[in-house]
Amino acid sequence: MNDLIDLRSDTVTRPTAEMLDAMMQAPVGDIQYGDDPTVNALEERVAALLGKQRAIWMPSGTMTNQVALRLLTRPGDDIIVSREAHSVWHESGASAANAGVQLTEIGTDGTFTVDEMRRAIKPTGNSVFPPTTLMQIENTHNRMGGNVFPQDQVDALCQVAKELGLATYLDGARLWNASVAQGVSLDQLAAPFDMVGVSFSKGLGAPGGSLLALNEQSWSAAERWRRMYGGAMRQVGYFAAAADYALTNNLGRLGEDHQNARLIGLHLSKSKHVSIDLASLQTNIVVFNLTGSLSAKDIIGAAKARGVLINALGPHRLRMLTHCDVTKAECQHAAEVIFEEIDKRASG
Ligand SMILES: *Cc1c(COP(=O)(O)O)cnc(C)c1O
Repeated sequence: MNDLIDLRSDTVTRPTAEMLDAMMQAPVGDIQYGDDPTVNALEERVAALLGKQRAIWMPSGTMTNQVALRLLTRPGDDIIVSREAHSVWHESGASAANAGVQLTEIGTDGTFTVDEMRRAIKPTGNSVFPPTTLMQIENTHNRMGGNVFPQDQVDALCQVAKELGLATYLDGARLWNASVAQGVSLDQLAAPFDMVGVSFSKGLGAPGGSLLALNEQSWSAAERWRRMYGGAMRQVGYFAAAADYALTNNLGRLGEDHQNARLIGLHLSKSKHVSIDLASLQTNIVVFNLTGSLSAKDIIGAAKARGVLINALGPHRLRMLTHCDVTKAECQHAAEVIFEEIDKRASG
């Protein structure tokens, strides 16, 4: 596996020897009795980082999103989300199946404006309309190329949502990247939201885990939903130790991933068969389109034969992610391979 350059996702990283060592040494207990000291410490650390009263461990980012929905909505509610949100595309229809809500996608590039939100919120006082009860933001935005949601816009949206009686949720699986890219603290990014989810299995390089930050009153209901969804594990401290290690050691290096993604994007932008929004090269995700009839599948196959793994987001749309297991030189090489394979097919 090691000679492959795997840019399919930032979830593909493997724990380093140091991270494994931290895991091996973690004191653990049964989280359902509340006595895993490593999990308790991580929950406190993350709650403090995000400026919330509490945080609760979840096995995955998807479960974090799903539990938040159960806490903040009722079946039949209407939820405002960004175009191509993770909850729409990557959660197997869970929001409809579990929370019984409908998702209304707005905006274009993973962000949206106050005006777009106001127009999407269903009127109250008429029984034909589903009640719009939650506004959800994804920061950074996965399918839109790791775009950062500008914080002044986030603040304005949350304020209007609050005025209109909507709850607010931040899907911050990659909030770490948003913080590093803008030089804005995590608690400032999280401040306007009722609840915030973050993930450790993405750019931070841990093998799993996510936390939902919320207020004191919501904690036990969150714990119950975690149990109902089958996500209440036991000696989770081993995972929490990896997450804690990642916060201490890997958060500070995310800027390298952003530079490497930019390097890939800029190289590909020189191809006349690639269409890429250079403004979207803000964090560790590169999304681009093949022009003409070039097929994403063909490029993926050709790249794989040369040891470079990437993913498709559509018939002509591709995605590459940088992370702590790929170097700048490997990213440069991968960009050259993709460029050549595209060029070969387009002119051949
Ligand atoms: C990865 C991701 C999640 C959660 O994914 P899991 O694979 O369930 O951990 C949630 N939101 C966004 C934006 C993501 O990219």
